[in-house]
Amino acid sequence: MHHVILGAGPAGVIAAETIRKHAPADTITLVGDEGEPPYSRMAIPYLLIGNIKETGTYLRKSLTHYADLRIDQVPGQATSVDAAARTVTLDNGTQLSFDKLLIATGSHPVRPPIPGMNLPGVHPCWTLEDARAIMALAQPGARVLQMGAGFIGCIIMEALAARGVELSVVEMGDRMVPRMMGPTAGGMIRDWCEKKGVKVFTGTKVEAIELASEPEGVVGKIASAIGLGSTEPAKGLRVKLSGGQTVEADLVISATGVRPAIGFLKDSGITCLLGVLTDEHLQTNVPGIYAAGDCAEAFDKVSGKTIVSAIQPNAAEQARVA
Ligand SMILES: Cc1cc2nc3c(=O)[nH]c(=O)nc-3n(C[C@H](O)[C@H](O)[C@H](O)COP(=O)(O)OP(=O)(O)OC[C@H]3O[C@@H](n4cnc5c(N)ncnc54)[C@H](O)[C@@H]3O)c2cc1C
Repeated sequence: MHHVILGAGPAGVIAAETIRKHAPADTITLVGDEGEPPYSRMAIPYLLIGNIKETGTYLRKSLTHYADLRIDQVPGQATSVDAAARTVTLDNGTQLSFDKLLIATGSHPVRPPIPGMNLPGVHPCWTLEDARAIMALAQPGARVLQMGAGFIGCIIMEALAARGVELSVVEMGDRMVPRMMGPTAGGMIRDWCEKKGVKVFTGTKVEAIELASEPEGVVGKIASAIGLGSTEPAKGLRVKLSGGQTVEADLVISATGVRPAIGFLKDSGITCLLGVLTDEHLQTNVPGIYAAGDCAEAFDKVSGKTIVSAIQPNAAEQARVA
C-alpha cells in the first residue's frame, strides 16, 4: 500500500508517523514544498523573540527521524490531483501514484488587494523565509506597522514588541482579536498593547502603502551598512490609513488572515468548499482520499456545521484520525 501525503507541516508529519505505527510494511511518501526540514509555524514567534534558533522550530529534532521511520521525503509542490487515475503531479513534472492520499497542504496568508503590497519591506509572517526577512528588518528602533490584530496577528505582535521595535497595529474590526474576543477582552488586549508603547488603530483600514521620500528609516541605514539593500526600500514606507492618518514604517507585516491552500485541487473531482470537505473520518467524497489540518473543512459538533479550524492542535488531531 502506498500512502502519499501532500504537505510536510504538523498534519503531514503526524499522519506519516501514525501510518507507520499502524502499517509497518507500507510505503509512505511525504511531499513538501518549502525546502526546509518540517517545522512548526507556531514556533516562529519564539524565533522572532530570540528564545530559539531555527532548529528549535523543527517538528522533529533528529536528523534521521524520517529515514528511521522509512518516510520518503519528496521535495515539490503538488500542482494537480487526478482522483480517478489516483495520481498526483508535482511542479517539477514528477508523477506519483497512490493507493491512499492525504491532503495536508495547510493555508496561505491572504494578500489584501491594497496598492503597494508588492513593495520591498512588506511581508506576511507565515513561513521561516518570511521570519528571516522580518528579523533582518525588525531591528531595535525600527518602525514596524502590522496590518491585522487577529489571533495569529497578536501572537506576532507580542514577539515584535519584545524585539524593541516602534510598533503600530492596524485592525479593521472595532476591537483587537475581533473574531475571538468580545469588547471587554478586546479592550484588555488593547490596554496591554498601549502600556507596551504599541500604537493601536482599530476600526481602521490600510488604504495604500507607498515608498516614502524621506526620512530614510533606521533599518534602511542598518541594512545599507550591512549590505542588505536589496530587501529594503531605500527610504522607508508610508502607510495611508482610512482615518486619514499616515504612518511611516521600515517594515509592514501583513497578518490579515489565511485561506486553505487548495487551489491545485480545482478539477480534481474532490469536493472543496472553503476547505477540502471531509466526513467524520476526515475522508473526502473520493474513497481513500483524506484531508487534515488547516486545509480541511470538517464537521463541528458545537456549531452543527462544517468549518475550517486553522489551529495546530486541530491539525495534529485530524492527522491522527485521518
Ligand atoms: C506566526 C504563527 C503563529 C501561530 N501560532 C499558533 C498558536 O499559537 N496556536 C495554534 O494553534 N496555531 C498557531 N498557528 C497556526 C498553526 O501554525 C497552523 O494551524 C498549523 O501550522 C497547521 O498545520 P498544517 O500541517 O495543517 O499546515 P502547515 O503548517 O501550513 O503545513 C502545510 C505544508 O504544506 C505545504 N504545501 C502547501 N501547498 C502545497 C502543495 N501544493 N504541495 C506540497 N506542499 C504544499 C506548505 O508549504 C506547508 O509546508 C500559528 C501560525 C503562524 C504563522
